[in-house]
Parts: sequence; C-alpha cells; structure tokens
Amino acid sequence: MRLWIKTPIAVLADNAGAGIVVEDGIITELMPSGREPMLPVDQTFDASRHVIIPGLVNTHHHFYQTLTRAHPDAINKELFPWLKALYPVWAKAVTPDTFRLATRLALTELMMSGCTTASDHHYLYPGGLEDAMDIQAEEAERVGLRMTITRGSMNLSQKDGGLPPDSVVQDEDTILSDCERVISRYHDKSRGSNLQVALAPCSPFSVTQNLMKETAALAKKHDCRLHTHLGETFDEDAFCIETFGCRPVDYLEECGWLNERTWLAHGIHFNDDEVKRLGHACVGVCHCPTSNMVLASGQCRTKELEAAGSPVGLGVDGSASNDNSNLMEGVRHALMINRLTYDAESITHFDAFRWATEGSAKCLGRDDIGAIQIGKMADLAFYTLDELRFSGTGDPLAALVLCGAHSADRVMIGGKWTVEDGRPTTIDVAQLRAEHDAAARQFLESF
Ligand code: ZN
Repeated sequence: MRLWIKTPIAVLADNAGAGIVVEDGIITELMPSGREPMLPVDQTFDASRHVIIPGLVNTHHHFYQTLTRAHPDAINKELFPWLKALYPVWAKAVTPDTFRLATRLALTELMMSGCTTASDHHYLYPGGLEDAMDIQAEEAERVGLRMTITRGSMNLSQKDGGLPPDSVVQDEDTILSDCERVISRYHDKSRGSNLQVALAPCSPFSVTQNLMKETAALAKKHDCRLHTHLGETFDEDAFCIETFGCRPVDYLEECGWLNERTWLAHGIHFNDDEVKRLGHACVGVCHCPTSNMVLASGQCRTKELEAAGSPVGLGVDGSASNDNSNLMEGVRHALMINRLTYDAESITHFDAFRWATEGSAKCLGRDDIGAIQIGKMADLAFYTLDELRFSGTGDPLAALVLCGAHSADRVMIGGKWTVEDGRPTTIDVAQLRAEHDAAARQFLESF
C-alpha cells in the first residue's frame, strides 16, 4: 500500500514540500514542491491543514509517577527532599493494577502530544511488582507506541546508606536475573523494532558500585543500551564525593559506563573536562528541561555536550516532577531554558526539534527513526494551526514551538494511524481518565 501524504503546510524535512510517500511502514519518497510521486499511489491523504514533524522520541520518564502528580507532600521541593517525601507513598500504592494504568496513561498522553517512541526508566520494585516490564510491553503494544522498556533497579537502601526505603529495592541477584529474562524475552534489535530493552540502575545514591559494573557487563553481552540518572543536582555531587571519593563522571568511568552504549538523564552539573570526556566517549544526554525547572536542578550544557560529541535528546521526566507527559511542551521549554543558558540567536526551534527527534533517537541507539528521510520508519506527528494561539502566524514550524502546540491532530507510527482528529485510535481516553484518576486517589489517602 502506497500512501501519499500530500502538500502539508510545512514539513520538517528537506525537499518535501509536495509531501511524503509511505509504503509498508517506511518513508519511500519525498517530493519537492510541485512534484508528484514517481510511481502511482493507492491512497492520498490531504495534509493541507497540517504541519508535519518526525514523531517525537522521549528518552526519560517514570510512568508510575503519573499516579502522584502535584502531590501535596512533594510540591515545592528540590530533588532529594522531593524523593524522600514520595518514596513511602509510592512503596504503599504502586501495584500491578495501578502501574498498568499509569503506563497506559503516560503512553497515551505522550502519543497525543506527538510522541511515537518512548522509553521509561522503571526502577521501583515493591513486592508484587516483579512483572513490571511485562506489563509495560503489553501496554506499549496496546497503545501502539514503539518503546524501549528500561529495566531499572535499586539495591542501596536506607539501611546501607542509600536514599530509598528498604521496601522498594531488590537484591543484586534478583535484579540481574530479571534483566537477563527481560532481554531474552523482549529485546528486538531489528530495524523498525517496536520493543527494545535497556538496563538502568537508578542513580549513584540508590545502587551499589558492583551492580553498576555487573549491569554494564550484561548490557555489553546482550548489546543493549545503558541508562541512569547523573549530574542532576549538587546534592548528588556531594553524595559521590563523600561516598566514593570522586565526582559522578569519575564514578561512571570507574563503573565501566563511559562509552557509547550509555545515555544519561539530566546531565547538568558537568565541568569543562567532564563535558569533553563524555563527548569523547559519545555518551548521550537526555535533557529534561521541564523537570529541571520544576525541581530547580539547573541548566544542561546542551550545546557544549553536542559540540564535544555527545548526542543530546529530550525527555519529559517523571510526571511527579513535570507534572505532565507532553513532549511537545518539553520542546518549547527546551527552547526557552536554553535561551537563558545561551542566547536567542544560538538556540532556534530547529535545535529544540533536533533534540526531541534525531538526538533522542541516537540516545536510544536507533538510526531508523527520528527524521523524515527516505528509508526511515514512517513515524510522523501532524499538527494543525487552527487554534486561536496560532492565528496570524508566519513561519509554521517556528509557530509550533513559539505559539505552544500542545496536541497532535494526527500521529502515524510505522505507517499506521494511532491518533486521528486528536483522538487515539487504540484507547478510550474518557475511560482511561476515569480509571487512572480513581487509582491515583489512593496515593492521596493520608491527606
Ligand atoms: Zn528521572
């Protein structure tokens, strides 16, 4: 089946003014303005109301946190006190049922904002939630997003000098054997894959050094990606110096993580030498602008990291520190905070889009998504300029970011429509809203 997506208002691709041809889930032709497809098409979609960009790729999230958004115990705090306030709440109420609804909601919310591939860093394992990765694999298939399920872990709890309570961590053997199980069951490395697996010890302050090393060895053995939080706060710097006698990047290197398999969440507090070392090793960094502003964590050195050789992607981060899962809003926030870090001329909407698409795809180790180019997967996000906020706009692509596009009118993933007229084709949004909200109420019970 050859589909011609015909004459959009604008498209974030070179020489594609007359549109895009999609065949068997892959982009097979781009036409400059005034041209028609080389071969006959079976179907034409009139895109004259749409601005089209590559489907956005989210490289850092904690889906379960959609259950504790704007939680009264946690608002108005920085990271460490925020975490200490929420750990006991999560430990009490994250069950397979609430986790499933949280996963479904986050995936749906991301997709409605224009996201087509998501990773989720899930590191919280209270008793009963051993099948978390299986639940996420099922929900990704149900909603229709590509996903990197990220088998997170914590094994350094309060009794051993870590930050999380004892009830949400697992021991090293349990973690490593489940990592092996999840990889063998779900890690599909093929081009156009719908599901991949990454391994993700949570952070220096919740994981032992041995688990960091063993996880790196496992990722190498199975050729999968490695992910963790690093460089998010000054508190983390102090913890590393006190506990390990070195700064976070030195610790990362000691653990065998300073290589192109790794992408880091946040990556804020790096000095010049560390930026150089990370770039030289091609370590990716997921920039989380909204979360960094909410928690007042600081500003990521995106431009220096990219110049040094690090891929820079974008992530919404967990919904308790954002507090939404709208990646298009993240694109706008990336533009704004980076203009504060640098200046208005150095940071354009193209930078923000690049981080959320190509940069994010590189962080996930993928070269088959993240751009509208011949041979890439047909993962596309379509926005109209019909809302009041767009009335009178000049540059349509800049308008998506500057006027604040929020919801995609249509989303295509692997050639299939997953959002039409602003509504997911796979999920009943009203029902999901009601079920998720009911589940989340129990996280507020003590108030
Ligand atoms: Zn995070």
